[in-house]
Amino acid sequence: MPGFELFGDKEREQVNDVLDSGVLMRYGFDGMRNGHWKAKELEKALEKRMQVNHAQLVSSGTAALTVALACAKVGAGDEVILPTFTFVASFEAVLSVGAVPILVDVDDTLTLDPLAVENAITDKTKVVMPVHMCGSMADLAPLKVICEKHGLILLEDACQAIGGSYDGKPLGSYGDLGCFSFDYVKTITCGEGGAVITNNQEFYKLADQYSDHGHDHIGKDRGAEGHPILGYNYRISELHAAVGLAQIERLDDFITTQKKNYSIIRSTLEKIPGISFRRVPKNGVENYSFLSFYLPTEEMARKTIKVFSENGVDACFYWFINNWHYYRKWEHLKDLNSLNSFSMELREGLPNYNMSDFSKSDQWVGRNISCLIKLGWTDEEVTSRAEKMANVLRNIVDFSNY
Ligand SMILES: *Cc1c(COP(=O)(O)O)cnc(C)c1O
Repeated sequence: MPGFELFGDKEREQVNDVLDSGVLMRYGFDGMRNGHWKAKELEKALEKRMQVNHAQLVSSGTAALTVALACAKVGAGDEVILPTFTFVASFEAVLSVGAVPILVDVDDTLTLDPLAVENAITDKTKVVMPVHMCGSMADLAPLKVICEKHGLILLEDACQAIGGSYDGKPLGSYGDLGCFSFDYVKTITCGEGGAVITNNQEFYKLADQYSDHGHDHIGKDRGAEGHPILGYNYRISELHAAVGLAQIERLDDFITTQKKNYSIIRSTLEKIPGISFRRVPKNGVENYSFLSFYLPTEEMARKTIKVFSENGVDACFYWFINNWHYYRKWEHLKDLNSLNSFSMELREGLPNYNMSDFSKSDQWVGRNISCLIKLGWTDEEVTSRAEKMANVLRNIVDFSNY
């Protein structure tokens, strides 16, 4: 998946433009910047590639989620529904605006179960946040129907699935708001960076203002600009945007390579009885950054990840016991270990996650293994990797039962 694997001359050239002018900031300094507006150019490139009217770059994917929630006016006591399987940034962003993260089960797509979403809606719910984990997407059509029925905002966390699509639309562009991350391990990188995309002009205006201390960005004198709202600093720098500008040009090539490597491994594993694959919703196209499959039992999955590692099959993840991506290990959230004290709305609104029953999620995540697809592998490396994986799986799965 990671764009850092193929970092090179194009990225260097873009960064050198910025270094030559010395204007490292995205706003102002018009005379000094030799016509280079890397952040603005990257926003234009994102709008074109993602087929949306507006893109707002920010300093990280976490910042993108925070800005998206803020511009949707989510705040104290509002509830945001999100999955038990995600990166911690998803609920960090919700908490940062004072809202309540409501975790619900995932299904065989490893993303939000629409039924669980519907069951979790209350009169405080404001946003449904599907997270397109590991390169594939939530079933967005039923989620959109639910959002329309209840007057909720659909916010896609597409940080791990840039370049995938659903119903012909780029992931991130299907909901009311979509977020990307360009951190160092994502499909394309800026080093650090993120973006909010939307077709909603009001959301965009607020995202533009909120991410830069409330500046309205009207006129040529930054110091004299109006401040219609209170904001914050989530700006991206020109240096980071320059790297991203080179990387977005390469996104589709990266995905072609990922698809090729993914397909070789998948077609080998498909021949093994008892192995099944993560469900990709109808009309969904992955970005192929991971291959995720299920073992028949949790015990076999635990054994597989161990034997993979003993046999040099690296870059595979068993999220069920991973520190970061699954609710079971989020002790800091369960025990509310925050630096500052939570508002009363948050304390009263948060479910006791030490007591929750997410056994439906456990049924899927406990049997799942996700393997990173790398860009730099040679064909021989992919083929021998696939064979190694297949040999391990054949030994572990007792396929007399399948
Ligand atoms: C990486 C990631 C984020 C946060 O992005 P950063 O740029 O690292 O802040 C949010 N959500 C998901 C699903 C991610 O994978």
